[in-house]
Amino acid sequence: MDKEDFRKYAHQLVDWMADYLEQKENYPVTPNTKPREIYNQLPTDAPEDSESFEAIFQDFQQLILPGMTHWQHPSFFGYFPANNSEPSILAEMLMATLGAQCMSWLTSPAATELEERVCDWLRDAKGISSAWKGVIHDTASTATLSAILSARERKSAWKINEEGFDGKERFRIYSSAHVHSSIDKGVRIAGLGVDNLVRIPVDEKFAMIPSLLEEAIQKDLEKGYTPLCVVSALGTTSSTAIDPIGEISKITTRYGLWHHIDAAYAGTALLLPEFQHLIEGHELADSYVFNPHKWMFTNFDCTVLFLKNPEDLIKTFSLTPEYLRTQLDREVNNYRDWGIQLGRRFRALKLWFVIRSYGLNGIRQKLRNHIQLAQKAKSWIESEEGLEILAPVPFNTICFRHNMTDHSLEEMNAFNEKWMNTVNSTGKVFFTHTKLEGKFVIRWVIGQTDVEEKHIQAAWVLLMETRKKLLQHFD
Ligand code: PLP
Repeated sequence: MDKEDFRKYAHQLVDWMADYLEQKENYPVTPNTKPREIYNQLPTDAPEDSESFEAIFQDFQQLILPGMTHWQHPSFFGYFPANNSEPSILAEMLMATLGAQCMSWLTSPAATELEERVCDWLRDAKGISSAWKGVIHDTASTATLSAILSARERKSAWKINEEGFDGKERFRIYSSAHVHSSIDKGVRIAGLGVDNLVRIPVDEKFAMIPSLLEEAIQKDLEKGYTPLCVVSALGTTSSTAIDPIGEISKITTRYGLWHHIDAAYAGTALLLPEFQHLIEGHELADSYVFNPHKWMFTNFDCTVLFLKNPEDLIKTFSLTPEYLRTQLDREVNNYRDWGIQLGRRFRALKLWFVIRSYGLNGIRQKLRNHIQLAQKAKSWIESEEGLEILAPVPFNTICFRHNMTDHSLEEMNAFNEKWMNTVNSTGKVFFTHTKLEGKFVIRWVIGQTDVEEKHIQAAWVLLMETRKKLLQHFD
């Protein structure tokens, strides 16, 4: 493609993108695609010769688009959102155009210094200690793994990196059963063994019980284990439950454990001053992760990891072969040393565009709107006979189900699953589920960039009509 063609097609694509964003709610939220349907339509061999851009783009529209789930649809209520916004998309276009690989200060000074500045902005806006520093990672999974590896290295005086495990360490990691599976994965990859991930019981709000955490640590010490790290959740994946950060921090400090706070989704709410009390006492913790790519209008991927002592991370990951050494290494941040990847994308640009375009106040307004919409939906559910909400709704995620006391757990689970699948099959909405105490519950997450009251009202009408029909055949 020559430069003139690039200009022509780029203009066409921008028009297509603007149309898509305007019309995104006209698409079915989820496709009606059968397994391998798309694969089988694609040629078995890669093309040997050049194809025209028109042909490629036509296939994108005819083959690919119908098989996409529309994550930016305002009625996408499943999982957690991966919401985006126009300023973020524009930044992503510039990132791709510059094509910079931002592994060290020298490989793009502006990218490194912008990253430091936007992380400081977010740290301050979220009420995180001004002594902490941030770094951008691709995902919370990677950031959490980095924190676990740093905890392991700090505890072993940076020996395991050098000598490997000597077979004597019996490290233990603690979390509630409700933390995200990325914690299990991090523990596995760090070589600690998931059997050493101790599940601390939760209270009726699905939050970790600190006294039982301390008991577990003491028992492990008596048995000769080495308690290493606690991963707490500020907003669990199932129900956005909130572990008591301050109390856990006191315990981890008392026993010399690393405390990592996983606020991947709900951490964005800390931009609202009314939620900042949730991290009171975090100054005693070690690391905190949140995903602007979930609820902060910054398109996937973009995670920020904050650390009390970045040196712990740097000592764990820094490896400077001769060809990467520069004279400025002592004066600047080389973010390749702050995580697993060597090569790094220029993600700070997206955050800069989003924060400046909305302003913190604009972001706060949107977040408050989402939270209010969720509280409204919650009140509808509460006032409807037969429905129950199974977890508190501190942010914008509601866990609910239909219940009938004269039916068994299995029957109710089957009913609720069918109810969710039936509404999803319309393509008008998309919900996902979880299980709380064995009960199948539908999760309603109201966090799309452009979700409005009309979308939740339409979803509510669909839910109620579908339930009525299903109940007619349910005995
Ligand atoms: N932590 C929590 C609480 C999550 O809900 C999720 C994903 O939904 C993750 C971590 C993993 O996030 P990522 O996809 O950025 O690795």
